[in-house]
Amino acid sequence: MRKIFLNDLPKWGKNNNGNEGTINWRASIGCCVKFQYNDIKGEIVIVDYKSKEQRLYIQYQDKDIFKIHPSSFTRCALGRLLGIVTDEFKVKIGTHFKNDKRDLIIISREYRINNRKWYQYRCNICNWDEGWVEENSLLGKRKQGCSCCRGLTVVEGIK
Ligand SMILES: [Zn+2]
Repeated sequence: MRKIFLNDLPKWGKNNNGNEGTINWRASIGCCVKFQYNDIKGEIVIVDYKSKEQRLYIQYQDKDIFKIHPSSFTRCALGRLLGIVTDEFKVKIGTHFKNDKRDLIIISREYRINNRKWYQYRCNICNWDEGWVEENSLLGKRKQGCSCCRGLTVVEGIK
């Protein structure tokens, strides 16, 4: 059984339909949230919320601060935080992918929905460093490169 108790977190005001608003994550910083994940019961502290990256920074006991998407948090998808789900990344931070199609250095990585592994890269061709690529695309036959260079992502100031 998985349950996370979010009722006490601050909400945005009621909307026009009279329904309770969604959780105000910024105002929830510092709040403690109780959860139950199968037979583990505990409390998680919301340490920070970065709205730009849509990530909560949470901490459980004395473990490292853990980044999680709010939708995963509200689904109580805490298996990785609790060390129950351990699906390792295949690519290390600092790995350099260079060939005729791409020149990328992996600078960060994280798990997202459905345990998919995503990597943030810096592109040595256009210097963009906010791109993300999923592991299968990074390692797949197509050897996906920088989406800024390919014109898929428009970045201000880079032509
Ligand atoms: Zn690029």
